[in-house]
Amino acid sequence: MSNKKILVTGASRGIGLEIAKGCLEKGWSVTGTAVSSSFPDSMNSNKNFKGVHVDLGQLVDVQATLKPEIENELPDVLINNAGVFRDADMMADDDEWLRVWDQTMNINLRSSSILTKWFINQHVKNGTEGIIINIASRAAYRGDTQEYAAYAASKAGMVAFTKSIARDFSRKNIFAYSVAPGFIETDMAKDAVDLLGKDYILKDSAFDEITQPDEVATLVVFLAEGKIRHASGQTFHINGGSYLL
Ligand code: NAP
Repeated sequence: MSNKKILVTGASRGIGLEIAKGCLEKGWSVTGTAVSSSFPDSMNSNKNFKGVHVDLGQLVDVQATLKPEIENELPDVLINNAGVFRDADMMADDDEWLRVWDQTMNINLRSSSILTKWFINQHVKNGTEGIIINIASRAAYRGDTQEYAAYAASKAGMVAFTKSIARDFSRKNIFAYSVAPGFIETDMAKDAVDLLGKDYILKDSAFDEITQPDEVATLVVFLAEGKIRHASGQTFHINGGSYLL
């Protein structure tokens, strides 16, 4: 399909921006979201790109901006990419611990679930094919340090959610995939690089370089093409060989 419509969350920076660019290069129409950043001029000037600002941690905001986008414009592909990586260690007080868990679950998992629900219901109603791509993390498979336990749990939730969609909706032409990146050189990873140093990060890797976001985007764009329906429910790992399944 040369005129596919794509909705990608978190398209202002990092992996989401590369996914949006990759989809535009295919000639597809892209709606991208951000919470507060502006979109780059190269995106704003592209007639096939629409930028939307929405806080995925605020249900009312999501309902006002993205529910009509999904129900009226119905994208062919929904890419749940936006995410946060917030820390709270076991010594944090209970309120702080729960604040981080609630924020992480709301933004990373709960918002993806409601967008997916609207997307599936509309496709089933119309009898059309839809693809969901959930950007999870290697943390879903190997856990993370205790400070980022909420993050790992939110990503494991995404993987399980993807499998549930595949089991129940493949017969209705709704396909869902998880992508589990390892360490990717974006703003999200910058703090860890600054704190621990590149050598520490690369100790885990089978490469001498940190994975770049455009490689993740290449995989996502391939999945969005819809050529491997029977891989629905699977996770695609891209982690520089930091673990191999
Ligand atoms: P990033 O560079 O930090 O970009 C995050 C994107 O999400 C931005 O577009 C940001 O918008 C948006 N966002 C953040 N909070 C939001 C909220 N409350 N509501 C709406 N949008 C929000 O992140 P990234 O590294 O590209 O990560 C993208 C995805 O890949 C995430 O789900 C992440 O967990 C996953 N991942 C990343 C890595 C890695 O090493 N980088 C590894 C595994 C998985 P603003 O620009 O407006 O803030």
